[in-house]
Amino acid sequence: MEQLPKRPANYVPLSPVGFLPRANAVYGDRTSVIYGRVRFTWSQTYARCRRLASSLLSLGVRNHDVVSVLAPNVPALYEMHFAVPMAGAVLNTINTRLDARAVAGILRHSEAKVFFVDYQYVRLASDALQLVADEGRHVPLVAVIDDIDVPTGVRLGELEYEGLVARGDPAAELPSLADEWDAVTLNYTSGTTSAPKGVVYSHRGAYLSTMSLLMSWVVGDEPVYLWTLPMFHCNGWTFTWGMAARGGVNVCIRDARAADIYRAIARHGVTHLCCAPVVFNILLEGGEAAAKQLAAPVHVLTGGAPPPAALLERVERIGFRVTHAYGLTEATGPALACEWRAQWDRLPLPERARLKSRQGVSVLSLADADVKDAKTMASVPRDGKTVGEIVLRGSSIMKGYLNNPEANSDAFKGEWFLTGDVGVVHADGYIEIKDRSKDVIISGGENICSKEVEEVLFQHPAVADAAVVAMPHPHWGETPCAFVVARDKAAGVCEDDVVAFCRKHMARFMVPKKVVVYDAIPRNGNGKVEKNLLREAAKKLAPA
Ligand code: ADP
Repeated sequence: MEQLPKRPANYVPLSPVGFLPRANAVYGDRTSVIYGRVRFTWSQTYARCRRLASSLLSLGVRNHDVVSVLAPNVPALYEMHFAVPMAGAVLNTINTRLDARAVAGILRHSEAKVFFVDYQYVRLASDALQLVADEGRHVPLVAVIDDIDVPTGVRLGELEYEGLVARGDPAAELPSLADEWDAVTLNYTSGTTSAPKGVVYSHRGAYLSTMSLLMSWVVGDEPVYLWTLPMFHCNGWTFTWGMAARGGVNVCIRDARAADIYRAIARHGVTHLCCAPVVFNILLEGGEAAAKQLAAPVHVLTGGAPPPAALLERVERIGFRVTHAYGLTEATGPALACEWRAQWDRLPLPERARLKSRQGVSVLSLADADVKDAKTMASVPRDGKTVGEIVLRGSSIMKGYLNNPEANSDAFKGEWFLTGDVGVVHADGYIEIKDRSKDVIISGGENICSKEVEEVLFQHPAVADAAVVAMPHPHWGETPCAFVVARDKAAGVCEDDVVAFCRKHMARFMVPKKVVVYDAIPRNGNGKVEKNLLREAAKKLAPA
């Protein structure tokens, strides 16, 4: 064996960017992207990406430079997932729901060289750029992305996306990837539990994640993928690159509104979409009438927050086939998936929904996932009861946090990445998350997982949405405080009735001592409940 070279001459570094030239060669005349009246084929997408990459090089972008973008799900954002790394640079997608201070923080920390801004966000971007300039820091070159279907003429700075594509040379020589461990993208965490951190993915990790998610979820040929999940969230859980790998169709829409989603499904024969569970409420807005539009089942991959079993049941009834995954920015999106077992098909729907609400088993790109005692790092027994920290290891875990040695050393214990989530392992090996460690409510020494209380609240017929946090209590230390939203706003929700319902369905110490009716549960840009805000609200309601 030893006489063979370690790296044979035909070694090519793993990179998801390579799916695009293949799509050009294999699926060249198939539709790649649809947006409004705009249509591209894979050959066109390939040529446009090469042109943009060559323009970036002519702007002075070099290997490992960061190119940031603030845009919704438009074709330009899709193309940048290929064009930016084709120029040897690192793509930094910024969440459009952030405020100017947070955007400025990312531009500063990433030292972005070029900043692409969709025309809808020029105000936010110019405020952020002003903050960067005020601090005397390096201000990136700015290029606006106008609407490609209905151009608006809005400008910010000298450069404009379509102009850069047009003036690029599709035949220009582009740098070749030297090392698969090089950075491909930079995604900032949403900062729900600590300051945002810049998570770096390698080409290798992104390639393996893409392949693994395609294998576990995208079944059937010629998928038609609807972009409801923002591409800026973990690079669209890698389906940006994944659709090129499969020669699928990317249906882009600016906003995930019920009418737009159902119109796209009916018009383009959407087969797949990803979303946070909060989008289920949008899908359900259409109700039975919407369900009739689903000529064929639509596969939905959901994650990012716990999908309550009752909600899963409702969306499955109207024709969506849901796969549940759990993940985090640091794991390139989904890390666990609730892999379905054929024998569960025979179970009644509520039981199927209960099994599906578990987070599941490790995706293929991970070597392993486990639940461990955080101190001893011993695995917890598979009893569905003993709680420990969910830990992950393997290829789809980030390369690390950018310029943040302290966070890097806290995030890993040996080879294991610590998720900060607590969960249990069931006898069949499926992991179930119980809470974020910071959200666990400790009442009279008992640990209460907010998710367990929320699951019950979602079963209450008058409740559409719910979240539970700790409320300080003079005797118990903390007690659960529930925030609920009425399904029928006119009829409302009776607080005593909710408490009585909880008493019937959970241990007494878990019953919320206070129920507050809200018009809407506050959620951040990624659909996660802003529990810090609710905790503040609960503090004010606490008994003296
Ligand atoms: P941030 O950590 O900045 O909020 P992430 O998007 O990386 O941003 O959030 C990851 C967290 O979201 C996980 O650690 C977990 O708490 C939660 N989460 C993700 N998917 C699920 C899921 N399927 N069920 C329950 N919680 C989930």
